[in-house]
Amino acid sequence: MEEYENIIDLKEFNNKRVLIKEIFEEPLVDVELAGWLYDSRDLGKIKFLILKDISGQVQVTGVKGKVSDDVLKIMDKISRESVIYVKGKVINSKQAPGGKEVIPEQIEILANAEELPIDVTDFSKTELPKRLDYRFLDLHRKKIQAIFKIQSTIMQAYREFMIKEGAIEAVFPSIISSSSEGGTDLFEVKYFNKKAFLSQSCQLYKQMVACSMEKVFTIFTVWRAEKHNTVRHLNEARQLDYEQAFADEFVVMDVLSRAVQYIVKKVLELNKKELEILEVKLKVPDVKYLTFAEVKKIMEKEGVHCEEDDLGTDAEKKLGELFPDTIVFVHDWPLSGKPFYIMPKGNGLSRGFDAIYQGMEISSGGQRIHIPELLEERLKANNLDPKNFKSYIDSFRYGAPPHAGWGIGLERLTMLILGIKNIREVIMFPRDRDRLTP
Ligand code: ATP
Ligand code: MG
Repeated sequence: MEEYENIIDLKEFNNKRVLIKEIFEEPLVDVELAGWLYDSRDLGKIKFLILKDISGQVQVTGVKGKVSDDVLKIMDKISRESVIYVKGKVINSKQAPGGKEVIPEQIEILANAEELPIDVTDFSKTELPKRLDYRFLDLHRKKIQAIFKIQSTIMQAYREFMIKEGAIEAVFPSIISSSSEGGTDLFEVKYFNKKAFLSQSCQLYKQMVACSMEKVFTIFTVWRAEKHNTVRHLNEARQLDYEQAFADEFVVMDVLSRAVQYIVKKVLELNKKELEILEVKLKVPDVKYLTFAEVKKIMEKEGVHCEEDDLGTDAEKKLGELFPDTIVFVHDWPLSGKPFYIMPKGNGLSRGFDAIYQGMEISSGGQRIHIPELLEERLKANNLDPKNFKSYIDSFRYGAPPHAGWGIGLERLTMLILGIKNIREVIMFPRDRDRLTP
C-alpha cells in the first residue's frame, strides 16, 4: 500500500462527534457516530445494526424505501466488531432499546473485522486463557471494560486521597542492584556488564523519601519470580505504596483504612453503571483491629489452621467470613514472621501488620527500623549479611525520623472489591508463569 487516505476526515469528525450515551441524555437529532458493530439483524424489508462505542450502544434501523439503497447495501455486509461511521437522525421509537434509534443517512466501514477467534458478546462462554490470548479483542466487551473503568477510578481515587493527605507522588527505579528484602525470588536482568534485578518492591526508596519529604506515595510495578501458580498471585503486579515520617503502625493503618474507604466511595459514586453491569453490590468497608494472638485464638475456636508467625490462606478466608465488608487489621505480629526492616516491639512481637479484606491479604505494612545498629542486628537475625545492605543502612545515619508505611496490591484490591475469583481477570495484560504475551 503506497498511501492511505482516511475514509472520513477525523479532525472534522472529532469536532462533531456525538457519544452514544448522549443520544439518550439530550434531545439530539442530527448525529455523527463511530464505534463497533455489536450485532446485526436482517428482516428483509428492515435491517438493524447495534452500534456500540465506549459510552453505550444504540440501534441503527434501515427500512427499505426510507433509507437509501447504498446504505442498505453496506448494512448487509458489515461483520461483527467492524468499525463503522454512522451519520443519521435520532428518532423516538417504542420498540428500540432505550426508546431511541438512529435512521442512517451515511454509513462507512472504517475497519473490517475478520472472523472472530473468541466470542465477545455479553453471553460469551470463551474460557479465560483463550480470552487472554486475544485480550485486545476481549477488551471490546462491556463487562471487561467495566472492570478496567473501575480500576481506573481506584487509581485515580488513590491519587486524589493521597494528595489531600498532603503526600507527594514519587517515581522510583525498577532496576536494582540487589534484593531489597532478601527472600523473594528476583528476575535477573543484564545491565551492561553487570548483573541487576527487577524490583520486587520500592520499600527502600519510599523510606528514603519519607525520611526527607515526610509523606510519599506511588503506584509501583513489582516483579516477583515466584513459581506459584495461584488465582491471587501474578509475577508482575502493581502496588499502591505509602510511607510516612513520624508515624507508627497505628497511624498508617488509619491512613490505609481511610484510603480504601475513600476509594470504595469513589467507585460507588462514579461507577454505578459498571457495578450494575458486573452485578456487584459494594459497601464501604468497616474497620476492625485484632492482635495476631487474638486471631490465633479465634482460629483455634473455629478449628482453622493458623501458623505460628503467619495467618495462611485458611485463616485469611475465615476472617473474611467472620467480618465481611471489613478491613481487618492484624497487628502485634510475631517478629519472626515479618521482614528484617520491621520494628520490633518486645516479647517477640513487631510493629508489622497485615490488612485482610474479603478473606484475602490486601496489604502488609508497619513501622520500619530507622536505627542503623538495630537494622544490622535484625539483618543478622534473619541470616542476611549487613554488608550487602550497606547503602540502605547508611541512609539512616544522617537524621532519619521514625516512619511507617504499607503497600496495597492494586489487582488484589480490584478483585476483592468486585468479587472476582481470578486475579488475571483484573489485569489487562497479565504476566504469570506461562504468559508473556500479549
Ligand atoms: P502474599 O502473602 O499474599 O503472597 P506478600 O506478603 O508476599 O503477599 P507483600 O510483599 O506484603 O506481599 O506485598 C504487598 C501487597 O501486594 C500484598 O498484600 C498483595 O496485596 C500484593 N501482592 C504481593 N504479591 C503479589 C503477587 N505476586 N501478585 C499480586 N499481588 C501481590
Ligand atoms: Mg504481605
